[in-house]
Amino acid sequence: MLDGVPPGAVDLALTGGSIADVRAGSVRRAAVGIADRTIARIGSDDEVAPHARQVIDVSGRVIVPGYIEPHGHILLANPVEFAGALLRTGTTTAIVDALPFMLLTPPDRLSDLLASLSGLPMKFRWLIRLEPQSFAETGERFRLETLRALWRQPWAAAVGEVTRWVDVLDGDPDLVSKILAAREDGKRVEGHAAGASYERLVGLAAAGFTSCHEAVTAQEARDRLRAGLITMLRHSSIRPDLPGLLTAITRDDIETGRVMLTADGPPPAFISEHGYLDYLLAVAIHSGLAPLDALRMVTLNPAQYYGFRDVGEIAVGKRADLNVLPDLHHPTPSLVLADGTVVAKDQRLTAPLPAPSWDQLRPSVTVPQGVFDLLTAPLDATAGLRLVNDVITEPVAPGEFPPHALHVALLDRGGQWITQSKVIGFADKLGGLATTISSGFDVLVLGQNPTDMTDALRRLARMGGGLVVVERGRDVFSLPLELGAFSLRPWAEVADANRRFNTLLHESGYRFADPIFTLLFLTFDSLPWIRLTSRGLWDVRHRRVLAPAQPI
Ligand SMILES: [Zn+2]
Repeated sequence: MLDGVPPGAVDLALTGGSIADVRAGSVRRAAVGIADRTIARIGSDDEVAPHARQVIDVSGRVIVPGYIEPHGHILLANPVEFAGALLRTGTTTAIVDALPFMLLTPPDRLSDLLASLSGLPMKFRWLIRLEPQSFAETGERFRLETLRALWRQPWAAAVGEVTRWVDVLDGDPDLVSKILAAREDGKRVEGHAAGASYERLVGLAAAGFTSCHEAVTAQEARDRLRAGLITMLRHSSIRPDLPGLLTAITRDDIETGRVMLTADGPPPAFISEHGYLDYLLAVAIHSGLAPLDALRMVTLNPAQYYGFRDVGEIAVGKRADLNVLPDLHHPTPSLVLADGTVVAKDQRLTAPLPAPSWDQLRPSVTVPQGVFDLLTAPLDATAGLRLVNDVITEPVAPGEFPPHALHVALLDRGGQWITQSKVIGFADKLGGLATTISSGFDVLVLGQNPTDMTDALRRLARMGGGLVVVERGRDVFSLPLELGAFSLRPWAEVADANRRFNTLLHESGYRFADPIFTLLFLTFDSLPWIRLTSRGLWDVRHRRVLAPAQPI
């Protein structure tokens, strides 16, 4: 039977292949006709092809819906380059954290920037944060009225992730009122309930959370489903958990749309080595999940959860975001279409992605002279921290530091305050490292050699942001992040720099999986246990300052 528009109206026909029906869980022989960026006809080759202006033969291959990332972050590469990397591997829609833009973009430019990025062939749909993930003053940027104006935009998918879930359970009036307001507007509320017990997950669901991506064991995934939360199963550089998490999942959970897959923002080196959602699909299938069940978790389920009626399945009237696969067991596409246009072939982009103007979006770093004296002062009486894994830390009492402990400082990007401490476990040997990779994009400085540390900081300030390592006066690594959080360089260069940095750190004694995440999380106020914040050295578990920040 022929569905769709009359003959002659088809711009492009994909013939000779099969289509995956993610609703029915079946594959059938059919051609797809595309007109005006939309799936216009589905039928036999004879019905669809004759009047098409262009025909692509996909004989023996299977057409599936473009993949949808339900919870992403952009790291190091700029959003346009990130979009290209996702498109190459078949992800055509991504719900992505807007926090870096909310913190670094001038408020009067924010809405325009998010809107223009949402118009790329890889569709960004933004997660609007309800609070920053560092204590630094942010004033107007996180007021309810400001946030509401953002989440009501068509390019806003949901609010979150809400990292301060403990405050929500404690009834924090600011957070509770924002969550309620978002729910009244029909918005989903993405949680970050790392470590929450079943009882507390129930409390969070009652407070308005609708989903969570922080399960790290099968039991935690089950707890989230039982508490009524939509559950995103994560697989990333520091949390390669998918095979274990899948043991908690029944077919029912998938078919009722309660489960999806997320990469939760891996850095470029990981994406360029493994791929993106195509890789997660391959891991899921390799773990024994039926390919069509896995496919549903990155297509129909996220589309339905976020209320996107135009994507997530192959049907007449849907947007023509499509992947052509060799077969269902090989989820890396040989051809990717976005809005009915071929955008990638054999993992190479075939269409340029327009970049917005980055003018006036380059934040600066202010380093007052007094900082350098503070960085070189001894810290014998200060408490500190030890890395337990990539992101979790524990306290170390003053005087209990081995000689190779690193000095670590968080410096306000505006040059107003500094928090200093010592850290064990990041590296055995490191001259000086300075970076704007931190939860609030303030400046982290680490190292053992005061001259190298001040050198690295000076170089970083000249670049406006980035990642710099100096050893004995020599610049051994440098990646400018001109946009504060993001580089203006092409994807391949950033991924290569990311790999070189990882190697350098592993050679310096870093023993975990991903040093970029460690830098990002040394300052994150919502994971145990000890963090560097604008208030000072912060004990997350007991919610108290161990050593206050100093004004400069
Ligand atoms: Zn996340």
